[in-house]
Amino acid sequence: MKRYWHLHSIRGRLTLWYTLTLTVVLVLYAGGVFLFLRYNLFAELDRQLHEDFEVAEQILERMGEGGVQRHTDSHHEENEYPDNNQWLEVWSPEGKLLYRSPSSREEELGPISAFERQGHFVSRSIKLPPSIHVRLLSGSYLINRLPVVIRVARSEEPLRQELKKFLLVLVLGLPLAIGIAGLGGYTLARHALEPVSRMTEQARKITAERLRERLPVENPEDELGHLARVFNETFARLERSFEQMRRFTADASHELRTPLTAIRSVGEVGLREPRDAKAYREVIGSMLEEVDRLSRLVDSLLTLSRADAGHVKVTPEHINLIELAQEVVNQLGVLAEEKHQTLLVEAKEPVYVKVDRLILRQAIVNLIDNAIKYSPEGTCIRIVVQKRPEGSILEVIDKGPGIAAEHRERIFDRFYRIDKARSREQGGTGLGLSMARWAVEVHGGRIELESEEGKGSTFRIMLLDLENNQSSRPVTR
Ligand code: ADP
Repeated sequence: MKRYWHLHSIRGRLTLWYTLTLTVVLVLYAGGVFLFLRYNLFAELDRQLHEDFEVAEQILERMGEGGVQRHTDSHHEENEYPDNNQWLEVWSPEGKLLYRSPSSREEELGPISAFERQGHFVSRSIKLPPSIHVRLLSGSYLINRLPVVIRVARSEEPLRQELKKFLLVLVLGLPLAIGIAGLGGYTLARHALEPVSRMTEQARKITAERLRERLPVENPEDELGHLARVFNETFARLERSFEQMRRFTADASHELRTPLTAIRSVGEVGLREPRDAKAYREVIGSMLEEVDRLSRLVDSLLTLSRADAGHVKVTPEHINLIELAQEVVNQLGVLAEEKHQTLLVEAKEPVYVKVDRLILRQAIVNLIDNAIKYSPEGTCIRIVVQKRPEGSILEVIDKGPGIAAEHRERIFDRFYRIDKARSREQGGTGLGLSMARWAVEVHGGRIELESEEGKGSTFRIMLLDLENNQSSRPVTR
């Protein structure tokens, strides 16, 4: 049996189980019908024997000297009863045969048993040599006050022939029925599983290079349709991830190449002709600037790739968001001063959150740094910290150029910049906002952008309430 478990195809296993179950059911059913029929036929035979017994009571009469004979005026003709498949005998209680109907079958029923002698009414099957099965009914009776034991019997052969024929039909018919049903089951299973074969074929064709392909969905409502849809959704996600990865790799290579090219050309120009110490210092200074940009880019890339791999450990602690905002403002104040901008922290009450200080600080630095970089000179940048029913909020509001609607969706994507030249000129890597988004989301929070072109932008960090935050925030990602 164990071997069948190793049948490889579902189709084969389904057919096997179906056929096995059907065989068991059919065998049980046929057995039941056979037993029922047998019981009924024997019950009918017993009923006939009882009738025979009653007829015998009527046609027998007592002779002198304790003998028994058939009524001379019996309505039943001699050859009419019993017929040649029956027996009629009358015995004395002592075990002496008093009468045997001449039309009885010639086989002897044998002497009466002690049990019959006692006058009990018994019905049983006996086997006469060579092999005649007989159903026998005997019981005591008084013929004109003479106590006798009357025995009537009928051959079981016609009944057994019937049963044999029925059994033959069952034995021949059952395998045929099971064979036909098995074939039907196999065809059905093959038909039902055909979409799976087609899906397998199609899935085999889908590779990293052909992620655009999808599995056929023949009936979206059935189980296989659901499966195909789920696979297709997964393929769509994979396609997006592959696309993002490809773009990211291309963008990252490009971003890394730009400062390297700059370093190289600055170096080459510097070496082209002999210069004085001051000129060399300038060349080295601008080379170091590029190296600086390169290091920042590599640092950001490393952080993001560690975040993607889930290797960044988040160590939450209770902090006052206002203090953190103030700390960042103090750090970036010099940059704002250079552009004659004002940084203002506005808050009415302390706002406590449980976050990883360093990670969230980086997000706030990136937002305020962008506001300083992209807002015109002399403007005011407000950092508003407040508590709202939905959570703790930190907004960075600037009066810069704003961000057009078509860019708002993608502004948080890695390396996405509205004006590449301007960003680079400002020393941007194009990773600031994507890092900020990761830093907020790793705390279970959200980052949003509201902006009106020409009027300014508001970047909003939303953190869950302290209680919710504690329970829902993942510790590592
Ligand atoms: P970058 O290093 O270029 O600043 P970011 O991911 O921080 O990269 O920002 C992506 C782009 O979004 C920027 O290049 C800039 O075009 C735009 N941007 C970000 N912050 C602001 C802002 N406060 N005002 C206007 N544009 C902004």
